[in-house]
Amino acid sequence: MKFSSSLDFAQQLDSQDPLASYREQFVITDPDLIYLDGNSLGRMPKSAAERAKQIVDEEWGHDLIRGWNKGWWEAPSRVGDKIGQLIGAAQGQVLVSDTVSINLFKLATAALTFQPNKKRIVTDAFNFPSDLYILQGIQHLLSPSPFQGEGWGEGQYEVIRIGAIDDGITPNIAALESAINENTALVTLSHVVFKSGYLYDMQHITELAHNRGALVLWDLSHSVGAVPIKLDKCNADLAIGCTYKYLNGGPGAPAFLYVNKAIQEKLSSPIWGWWGQKNPFDFGLDYEPAAGAQKFLVGTQPMISLLAMEAALEPTLRAGMDAIRAKSILMTDYASFLTDSWLAPLGFSLGSPRDSATRGSHISIRHTDGYRINRALIEEMNVIPDFREPDNIRLGFAPLYTSFTEIWQGFDRIKHVMEEKRYEKYPNQKLMVT
Ligand SMILES: *Cc1c(COP(=O)(O)O)cnc(C)c1O
Repeated sequence: MKFSSSLDFAQQLDSQDPLASYREQFVITDPDLIYLDGNSLGRMPKSAAERAKQIVDEEWGHDLIRGWNKGWWEAPSRVGDKIGQLIGAAQGQVLVSDTVSINLFKLATAALTFQPNKKRIVTDAFNFPSDLYILQGIQHLLSPSPFQGEGWGEGQYEVIRIGAIDDGITPNIAALESAINENTALVTLSHVVFKSGYLYDMQHITELAHNRGALVLWDLSHSVGAVPIKLDKCNADLAIGCTYKYLNGGPGAPAFLYVNKAIQEKLSSPIWGWWGQKNPFDFGLDYEPAAGAQKFLVGTQPMISLLAMEAALEPTLRAGMDAIRAKSILMTDYASFLTDSWLAPLGFSLGSPRDSATRGSHISIRHTDGYRINRALIEEMNVIPDFREPDNIRLGFAPLYTSFTEIWQGFDRIKHVMEEKRYEKYPNQKLMVT
């Protein structure tokens, strides 16, 4: 499409947008706010707000303990199956539970102990730091300790982190390919990487890993609800993901995990809790794993949050991932165009892939004063992006509620911050949450 930088053009894109009406399904208290951080915390759907009230008043308040027999106990698998519809997973493979980090710990440890003779974990330097910390923790846990003689199995685990072919935008796929060898137990990557927004070819990487006998674990936190995902079709082994970003589940809403049917009976969870026990209400004194993916549950889930998140999925399920992706591509293409035409002359560069086929639903714009510009946008311009070291201002576009006019206004306000040098009065000293 041939883009124009006029406001008229943005309004025209909105008038042709088949998803335009979804914006009304979200709570918008400040019409002037340009919210470009749906990739960190999605806006609140009205369906979730109404449901949260109902859960508190009618279920928790009235049903009390009876709630467990009225849909609470099955919620992890029921809601998991709904998320499954968005990620190409047939029933019985997705469960809602815990946090992304904890789910990574459970599934990565299960993958490693499944093939104990293989000692290599392959990931990349683009991964979310928590994912890398969890892998380092597992490496520490499973490798022999110099103080305690033999640890789990023999030999040290190694974590290989692939770098970039450019300035932090594109992973080195050739290096990734050659790092996956016969000694590799696990390849684990973020499907869409959190800084540059690079989107991996899931099918290709999964095949590559399988050819060398490794299992693959995808972190879908930045792709679920933004990019169509076909876990079953790609024959992916394992996946985890977040529900408070593009799925709009609310702050701290529980995460999900996926275990392919083909390996469910082969894998064992490293955390044996009663929600993963075969017959939890027998209260037997010895652990017996539940069948299927269920054994990867641990303990009681945050029901208020989980059930509100279930209702939050409604707009996404109705819209469908193909329509969402089509608008997302148009929005990131448009934002890249505005970056080139308005911001490049002001010292910015695009920190994301230019080809939408390898890009998720956010872009990074880079500037040496990025942190202070981000502060000025939030404090003075009623624009909310976020900042990621060293120089990335991330702009997230949520197809269900971000409008093209909003994107135009966001870029217009960035231009004002630069032209009026409004950022210069802010210190480089960072706030706790950026
Ligand atoms: C947001 C995000 C997480 C969040 O992890 P929690 O443990 O749920 O806080 C993890 N990994 C990636 C790639 C993310 O984008």
